Amino acid sequence: MDYLPLFLDLRGRPVLLVGGGEVAARKAELLLSAGAQLTVVAPVLGERLAALLARQGGTHRAAAFAPEDIHGFVLAIAATDERAVNLAVGQAGRAANVWVNAVDDPAASSCLMPAIVDRSPVVIAIGSGGASPTLVRRLRTQLESLLPERLGELARRAHGWRERVRAALPDVDRRRRFWDGFFEGELAARLLAGSPEGDAGFETALAAEAAATPRGAVWLIGAGPGDPDLLTLRAQQLLQQCDVVLYDRLVPEAVLARVRRDALRVGVGKEPGHHRTTQARIHELLLDYAGRGLRVARLKGGDPMVFGRGGEEIAAVVAAGIPVVVVPGVTAALGAASAAAMSLTHRGRSQAVVFVTAMGEAAAALDWRQLAAPLQTVVFYMGVSQLAAIAERLQAQGAPATRPALAVERATQPGQRIVAGTLADIAARAAAAGIGAPALLVVGDVAGYAGAVPDGPAPT
Ligand code: SAH
Repeated sequence: MDYLPLFLDLRGRPVLLVGGGEVAARKAELLLSAGAQLTVVAPVLGERLAALLARQGGTHRAAAFAPEDIHGFVLAIAATDERAVNLAVGQAGRAANVWVNAVDDPAASSCLMPAIVDRSPVVIAIGSGGASPTLVRRLRTQLESLLPERLGELARRAHGWRERVRAALPDVDRRRRFWDGFFEGELAARLLAGSPEGDAGFETALAAEAAATPRGAVWLIGAGPGDPDLLTLRAQQLLQQCDVVLYDRLVPEAVLARVRRDALRVGVGKEPGHHRTTQARIHELLLDYAGRGLRVARLKGGDPMVFGRGGEEIAAVVAAGIPVVVVPGVTAALGAASAAAMSLTHRGRSQAVVFVTAMGEAAAALDWRQLAAPLQTVVFYMGVSQLAAIAERLQAQGAPATRPALAVERATQPGQRIVAGTLADIAARAAAAGIGAPALLVVGDVAGYAGAVPDGPAPT
């Protein structure tokens, strides 16, 4: 982070504004609305700025800026159209340890003015460190359209109720839960829609919460294949509400960054070979946290119900009488298909998709003849160390050596790699490229069309 965002309390604090034109007038308006005690240094004042100062207070010193003018101010804004003057203000500020913002000139500034979405007391500040004002403007427009007009009013009402809530719910987790429920609930929706109602509805909701026994919950959430933008909306909402998150080794930091900041993070990465004991320990942790009334997000790579032992965790939690919610995620096979622009089915070439794991003992129990059959796409999870064995077994059961195969590593993540080949050479090609976990293997005609439309019509 190149710039630390802060909200300044400028009420009654001395702020210097250098410049007397239109831009300066706009900045003066903003500074006065934040309660600053304003001094304007400019040889002449434009009409608008002069009127503003006359109306709202502030001093005008009719002179050109001189470096010693900077002393005694906490902040200076340079808003002249002469670069040399803006630079001089920046320099004087640096020497005197006064923050300086030169309008549209990050190089002359020690602080930048963000774009603002104002629903006071709720204020959103957006900046790009000068990288792209256009992007910032677009973001502001998007946020403006997302945020209800009466958000500020709602925040003020909530502020007025805070002490009541603190007294009724001394426990901080319960308070947070109550407020989450409030902001999502009907009362907040009515207030945002302009309902003029008093405090009765709020008092009723608070009394109901205070009388209830807190119940923990487990939310089994699919984290998708790695790109955080592939999280479902529900996953994002719940990740913002959980008290604890138990996450797998497969879940990348970029996804964890979407979890509520002060949720307790517990990594339950399973090392190969230690599945059984660790799985039991995961069940223990789930029951322990949920048993204490906390909302536990169990965050798993891909989809929780695909090779994720989701069923076992659900059974353990349900047996303990704790409610479970399951939120699907994009499973790795689907992430890989999109990443490789490869349709998993294709008219006349693939009529079925099989997700299979070929790890350890499980491999021997599989029906390899069926997996070797044509007209289907077979996706092998956890198969990266087994590529050669898988390719051999399929060929031994009649699959042609020319059948296309694709190894996809870290689908949808920054380190994504895709290696294409056939059953004859995919293991060697993947090894040469150094493909490692997490990766999966896709076998079938469709793997030959990744990223391309097959030439000629499909056989009918
Ligand atoms: N529940 C997960 C699968 C867990 S099993 C899901 O639905 O995707 C773990 C295996 O999934 C890995 O060994 C690998 O084969 C595959 N996998 C998970 N994420 C992947 C990714 N981003 N790219 C490729 N394969 C991935």
